Amino acid sequence: MTTIGFIGLGHMGLPMAINLVKAGHQVAGYDLVPAALEAFKGAGGQVAQDIPACVTDADVVITMLPEGKHVRAAYEDIFKHVKKDVLIAECSTIDIETSRSIHAEAEARGLRLIDAPVSGGVIGAEAATLTFMVGGREEDFNALKPYLEVMGKTIIYCGAAGLGQAAKICNNLVLGISMIGACEGFNLAEKLGLDAFKFFEVAAQSSAQCWSITKYCPVPGPVPTSPANRDYAAGFTAAMMLKDLKLAENAAQLTNASSPLGAEAMALYSLFCQNGGQGLDFSGIMKFLKGDYKSS
Ligand code: NAD
Repeated sequence: MTTIGFIGLGHMGLPMAINLVKAGHQVAGYDLVPAALEAFKGAGGQVAQDIPACVTDADVVITMLPEGKHVRAAYEDIFKHVKKDVLIAECSTIDIETSRSIHAEAEARGLRLIDAPVSGGVIGAEAATLTFMVGGREEDFNALKPYLEVMGKTIIYCGAAGLGQAAKICNNLVLGISMIGACEGFNLAEKLGLDAFKFFEVAAQSSAQCWSITKYCPVPGPVPTSPANRDYAAGFTAAMMLKDLKLAENAAQLTNASSPLGAEAMALYSLFCQNGGQGLDFSGIMKFLKGDYKSS
């Protein structure tokens, strides 16, 4: 049994922390939202009143926060209060600059830290089937791997500090584009009078096959667990997808990488969010394509 401090009990963090509790670890959780703390307590976790209380006794600290600014703010406190021999996994999806600055600060303080963003969504977090993509020192990766394995199925070492984030940003660039492609396909199929189940049957076994169709189908019916079946309740919000596409576009500009479809996907998610879709699941961009959310 390991003493773990877990900060950020949102859509992803809560089920991840609960899986650590189920594995027999002593987990103290902290979030700014009281309802998240209540939910964690109800699942057998211990509730910490603030970040210092959450991390002071922890052998392992895990963070799962929305954006770089939240990560920077939280780590100001975390670094001051952790034990010298703590192992830290920063699992949020954030910009590479923030990730590298957190690494540099950890290094300066002689602390061991990895960036370990995830893929797989809330379903993967609940089922402990997440993919972790990790940057940092390989020995720190190896030391934290047993804990990542409690929460995920595929754990991949990507290289030096920040390269886990690089893998995540590139992955979500592809995902944002492919989800819009899947929505356009299903929307056109409907207009042509082709049944969604039939199009799914074909696309899932043909060259259009992709995660956005087979695991996260953007129309209700073919994949009963996908957010389309609950009117696009998130899940992974459109606002989060917009954030990730901005991270990708920013990275593309910094490195002179060409990404015209990424820019287009970012513009579409931006319009969808401006028109009220920000809290819906990102697959709800289907509503926007169908005209349920009009561009202003
Ligand atoms: P979320 O908004 O549901 O949860 C984040 C939680 O962090 C919130 O409960 C918030 O109150 C808490 N928080 C913010 N600042 C805090 C602080 N200083 N101290 C304590 N708690 C604080 O977000 P999420 O959907 O769980 O996503 C978390 C991260 O994981 C994001 O970076 C996201 O891009 C990434 N991610 C999400 C998904 C998904 O499907 N939701 C999938 C892969 C990766």
